[in-house]
Amino acid sequence: MATLFHNGSIVTMEPGPEPDWLVVDGASVAGVGFGPPPNTEERFDLDGRCLLPGLQDAHVHPPIGGVAMNRCDLHEVQPAAYLETIAAYAAANPDLPWILGGGWAMHDFAGGIARADLLDTVVPDRPALLHGSEGHGAWANSHALRLAGIDASTPDPIDGRIERLPGGAPIGTLQEGAVALVERVTPPTTLAELRAGIVTAQQYLLGHGITGWQDAWVTPQTQAAYIEADSRGELIATAVGAMWWDRGLGIEQIPELVGRSRDSSPRFRPTAVKLMVDGVCENGTASMLEPYESGEGFGIQFITREVLLEAVPRIMEAGLQPHFHGIGDKAIRDALDAVAAGDPIDVARTRPHIAHIQVVDEADVERFGRLGVAANAQALWACNDGCMVDLTKPRLGARARQQYPFRSLIDEGARLACGSDWSVSTADPFAQMAVATTRTHDDSADPFEPQQALTRREALHGFTVGSAWINHREDESGSLRSGKRADLVVVTDNPLAVADLRDVAVTDTFVGGVAV
Ligand SMILES: [Zn+2]
Repeated sequence: MATLFHNGSIVTMEPGPEPDWLVVDGASVAGVGFGPPPNTEERFDLDGRCLLPGLQDAHVHPPIGGVAMNRCDLHEVQPAAYLETIAAYAAANPDLPWILGGGWAMHDFAGGIARADLLDTVVPDRPALLHGSEGHGAWANSHALRLAGIDASTPDPIDGRIERLPGGAPIGTLQEGAVALVERVTPPTTLAELRAGIVTAQQYLLGHGITGWQDAWVTPQTQAAYIEADSRGELIATAVGAMWWDRGLGIEQIPELVGRSRDSSPRFRPTAVKLMVDGVCENGTASMLEPYESGEGFGIQFITREVLLEAVPRIMEAGLQPHFHGIGDKAIRDALDAVAAGDPIDVARTRPHIAHIQVVDEADVERFGRLGVAANAQALWACNDGCMVDLTKPRLGARARQQYPFRSLIDEGARLACGSDWSVSTADPFAQMAVATTRTHDDSADPFEPQQALTRREALHGFTVGSAWINHREDESGSLRSGKRADLVVVTDNPLAVADLRDVAVTDTFVGGVAV
């Protein structure tokens, strides 16, 4: 059955003028054209709205975000209401042995530190562990710290930090690898919870027009949950999975990753490897070429340069795509060097990409395009928000100006893809495009390095063609032309023309021609 989309603007992300109408037949785009439209059985009246290709998110965490949405969820909660929200959740779930959830933001607490005694006031009777929305720290109550055996005598793990009171006792915030000290005593997340989380997350993402993504943290458990969801007909979007690289192991884990990459389903392909090279600047755990101004030394590198140089060429040789988390200039330098150590043919076919690209040394900007490493931008962070002003800039000093150099990367030949890092930040692509193009999140704040702003078309390209390329799906998606899959989004306003991108809202999403 053919459906005509007409009476609005159409942005195809293909070369040439934009068409007046588009026809979908079955699961595919059957044609686009100018002037009087053909007769079709069905018509979809855009009524002045805008039709776009389905958007793709190049770095997102649906199982984490979805499981959190189904638990004690603070993501959309104002900081002043955190405690009453947690108390209400605990009261509504009296039989849960643990209060688990997340979504609080570091910058909502003085110095980024959330205290156990505060959480004790609303969860005094049971252990509680709430992950920060940044995904790098967690907030535990006293009961949880006690169960985990964390006290003044507990040393910091090599890959994390226990925030402490002056006498050394734990304060309640655990950074990076220190979260695992509590997680090892929490009840494991079941396959059913993970599957339900993926389905909840998918509904949220489809509501933002996202019809495909790359999951930036796939474990054997989430892989099984994706495949189970797909086999039950619950997976509608198309996902590429980046399998988590175990920091405690070296290249001996590659055969297992290769084996796992063959365990896929029609809509889920785990063909990437997530290499989390370092932490984040705002807590001094990103790996830096020069020390922080704030006493954290050079930060933390989770995967050493030696392991990267040995492993990345082999990962690419095995046909798997490196997906780096690179925040500090040292982490990004080492990731680029590791790709450069590989065979250029393997680089071209696997399409390595570095997500976050926060502090990029000037000498490394031109290497992205030259080496064939894509820049995977989380543009929402490229502004003078509370995290940047209060936590990051004081730690970086003069190097703060080298953050998020999206314009320079594109000008020097890098491919750019865009991703939200949801549930760290919102998945709304238009909120991200707004910051990418203005370098500000708020009209009253000064733009952050405004010369690095993208054009509207470049930002939309990142969420369509750019991310489709990252996902090896550019033949079937990312733009609208005859023969491509009818993954479509209808939005209230044309994002290339609207006065304020933050006003753009999704009204309809189609996957393979079907409204979802
Ligand atoms: Zn992430």
